[in-house]
Amino acid sequence: MPREQLQVLQLEKLQKLLARLDGTNRFYTRKWKEAGVNTAAIRSLADLSKLPFTTKTELMRSQEECPPFGTNLTFPEHHYTRLHQTSGTTGTPLRVLDTDESWRWWGQCWAHVMSGAGVTKDDRIMLAFSFGPFIGFWAAVEGAQQMGAMMIPSGGWDSVQRLQAMRDLSVTVVCCTPTYALRLAEIARDEHFDLKALPVRALIHAGEPGANVPRTKQRIQSEWGAKCFDHGGASEVGAHSFECELQPGGTHVIETEFIVEVLDSESGRTVNPGETGELVITNLGRPGFPVIRYRTGDLVRLNVTPCECGRTFARFDGGLLGRADDMVTIRGVNIYPTAIENVVRQFASVDEFCVMVTTKRQMQDLEIQIEVGGGDNAEQVRSGVEQAVHHAISLRPTVTLAPRGTLVRDTGGKARRFRRLDAS
Ligand SMILES: [Zn+2]
Repeated sequence: MPREQLQVLQLEKLQKLLARLDGTNRFYTRKWKEAGVNTAAIRSLADLSKLPFTTKTELMRSQEECPPFGTNLTFPEHHYTRLHQTSGTTGTPLRVLDTDESWRWWGQCWAHVMSGAGVTKDDRIMLAFSFGPFIGFWAAVEGAQQMGAMMIPSGGWDSVQRLQAMRDLSVTVVCCTPTYALRLAEIARDEHFDLKALPVRALIHAGEPGANVPRTKQRIQSEWGAKCFDHGGASEVGAHSFECELQPGGTHVIETEFIVEVLDSESGRTVNPGETGELVITNLGRPGFPVIRYRTGDLVRLNVTPCECGRTFARFDGGLLGRADDMVTIRGVNIYPTAIENVVRQFASVDEFCVMVTTKRQMQDLEIQIEVGGGDNAEQVRSGVEQAVHHAISLRPTVTLAPRGTLVRDTGGKARRFRRLDAS
């Protein structure tokens, strides 16, 4: 669809949604009234900026004040058929509710993710994930169903059982976190299981950065002998971006279902394509639990040039680049966790790592613990990592060796490799 036509569709969907919410959704009706805006005045996409931002804090507060679901509901409670909650890595989880209509929409978005990875009805998709309240790959189940592919849940299986099932059932696509894809590769090595002999040709990742970190992606691809696809989304927003088979170095935004704005976090002004800013997103197909101009805290760089795959959807160059609040400044140097990950993953014998920013007497330091497997000389690897990180971010870290198997490996949720310790 030509971009002009895409924008006409976005505006049409936006206007319909706003009309539906105004007067029925308590959260937004109150919010817009307080801001003194009339939704009927939104006559162009540019007018969207007249509406106030939505923050996670506001959604959380509405659930505290009006438990258990808050006021961001457009329909009576009995219309809702699904409850999920955010993973809670940054505090109390936020509950999200979906109606049948909104849940089908989630599935449609995931169908975009899957068709981007070349999935067809002939595929067998294993979801290597422990299904719980986190929305994680639940929507992938719906997406697989809409694609007509075979979905194989593996929640109760351990890693070895999952590997065996991939072989025995001829699994072609695996959905999991990037951390877990690497963990499975590590287990396969220990068990002398030939990962590359599996018919798996694609891995679809979500839940955390990794598939967009070039070295991590490269490592997953070479361990599995399969292509690895990034995807971006959030419980409170939806699955909004995905990688196409040509992998042009970023993820496409599903612009038929979302309106994205990339803003300077401080001033709130729109940044130019190619410049890094905060992703502010409006979902168009989830009237049951909508977010209008939601501040995601994710940093992105928009690219609107056409992709050779033929899609006219804009792209996030490099996927989600990190979170605005993940950035740490140590002695004047701005550091993003993904930049460190990209360096550490160059070292094939580093199985796991953990980064800590420690503060002692107002002095901040960067400490990296690594677990070294394989037959490599551990001390050589340690000093190699130290030098490579120093070279990449212009700051010398303290790198130490951790005994094998001691650093946290996450099998399902979000890996927490980055910590801040305040020892002052
Ligand atoms: Zn493309």
